[in-house]
Amino acid sequence: MKVERVLIKISGEALSGAEGIFDSQAISGVCSNIKNVVDSGVKVCLVVGGGNIIRGRDFQNCRFMITETADTVGMLSTVMNCVIMRDALASCGMSVAAVSTLHLPFNILSNDIYTLNRLLPSNDVVIFCGGIGLPYFSTDTVAVVAAIMARCNVLLKATKTDGIYDLDPRLFANAQYIPELTHSDAIRRCLSVMDQTAFEVASKYKLPIYVFSASEPNCFARAINGEIKMSVAR
Ligand code: UDP
Repeated sequence: MKVERVLIKISGEALSGAEGIFDSQAISGVCSNIKNVVDSGVKVCLVVGGGNIIRGRDFQNCRFMITETADTVGMLSTVMNCVIMRDALASCGMSVAAVSTLHLPFNILSNDIYTLNRLLPSNDVVIFCGGIGLPYFSTDTVAVVAAIMARCNVLLKATKTDGIYDLDPRLFANAQYIPELTHSDAIRRCLSVMDQTAFEVASKYKLPIYVFSASEPNCFARAINGEIKMSVAR
């Protein structure tokens, strides 16, 4: 398969570090990683989560905020991450556009197929922010939907583990690594690497998902070339 466009999904935590929720070293590391992909001639769509700021599920029993509000703040967190990453990527010499299903100022354009068809050919990176625009979803589902809309060949998901396991390998020494699986296997076995809705949509549209460690140097370009340990769901 000739890869022409990829969707990169990173957690908001990938932007954080010793300096706090926005860490200059972490952000520049992500940017140079993405630049290597762009320099190899592959276009990038990017979804950044909001976990460095707020995840709705962490506020489920909150006294002053209902669940839906917590999810709204989560979605707005992804907007903050988006505008920061837009600047950070542009400062590395890449052309970057941002889209959202939310109606936003700040030159964040509408996430519709007409706008995308105009932006995708003329930008190195298009960032999707603001979630699906509804509570109860995660940015994994956003990433899958964005990948399908943008006709990406593959979704690259950088995580804390070096692939998909039957159990969390950080908690269970006997966790088994799963190099290849189908989307339906992931759903049936309740593997938590991505949420079930994301796998359902990916399955319907046959979107391959590569899962690998975010801490591998140059992880995105090497994942595209199959040069690092990863799991493939297809
Ligand atoms: N969120 C939402 N709807 C969406 C996408 C995201 O409500 O369509 C909220 C949800 O509260 C989520 C938060 O935004 O926890 C941040 O996204 P996510 O947890 O996926 O971020 P990550 O863990 O990847 O950093």
